[in-house]
Amino acid sequence: MRIGIDFDNTLAGYDRVFSDAAMARGYIAATGTLSKFDVRERVRALDDGEEKWKALQGEVYGKRMQDATMMPGADGFLRTCKLRGVDVVVVSHKTEHGHHDPDQVNLRAAARRWMKDKGFFDADVFGLAESDVHFESTRPEKVKRIAQLGCTHFIDDLVEVFDEPAFPDNVVRILYDPAGSAPHGGAFERHTDWKDIERAIFGS
Ligand SMILES: [Mg+2]
Repeated sequence: MRIGIDFDNTLAGYDRVFSDAAMARGYIAATGTLSKFDVRERVRALDDGEEKWKALQGEVYGKRMQDATMMPGADGFLRTCKLRGVDVVVVSHKTEHGHHDPDQVNLRAAARRWMKDKGFFDADVFGLAESDVHFESTRPEKVKRIAQLGCTHFIDDLVEVFDEPAFPDNVVRILYDPAGSAPHGGAFERHTDWKDIERAIFGS
């Protein structure tokens, strides 16, 4: 068994970061934490909304990366994998730099630093090796990597990954959909939280 996991919005959560960044720019009123989806809807509705949204994403995945939070239950899942001796690999579609980030932060290095801080590479926390983390520049390259690594399962928050023509047939497709907002149907299991994913893979 080798479980592949997406990074952004599957392991790392950005709701609070998006809310904070949007408030700091005066795009939304200071009303507490909204979901990333709600922030996007509000920002896109502003004048030049699409440009503002792109700039905000550049800031969140770059300069503000270290403020991202672990998705609830993801830590328990990773610990269970370690306890059971199950291989975990992270495969993420992430460019080196953001197109709309004036600071040109290295996004991959920022994500690795975040993982390091959370204990991903500590033998007594989640116990991954740095070499278990793969960043790819395009979605087709990501899917190729999933096949090449021989993943038995892949967990992702984006249906589009499973819909890639080259997504390997023999990999169990698990959609992590905490908002329950993904379209229904399709050849994948869907779960709204990590506990359910853990149960689905390992039993209770
Ligand atoms: Mg993702």
